[in-house]
Amino acid sequence: MCPQCHLKMSFVAQIDSFEHNDENNPNRRDYGKQHFMFGDVGMIYVWFCFDCLVPFATMDCY
Ligand SMILES: [Zn+2]
Repeated sequence: MCPQCHLKMSFVAQIDSFEHNDENNPNRRDYGKQHFMFGDVGMIYVWFCFDCLVPFATMDCY
């Protein structure tokens, strides 16, 4: 919900954590010095209200 008009916002993007570089993770990758880990392999969701021109982000962890 938009924090300004309280109507539903539009989903526009999601930003994923990099796979954890652990030997027990079969999907691990070495990204060098770039380690984006949002919580425990979390995901950031980006929302936008086209009426108010207000961006908003939420986060979910697994
Ligand atoms: Zn709004």
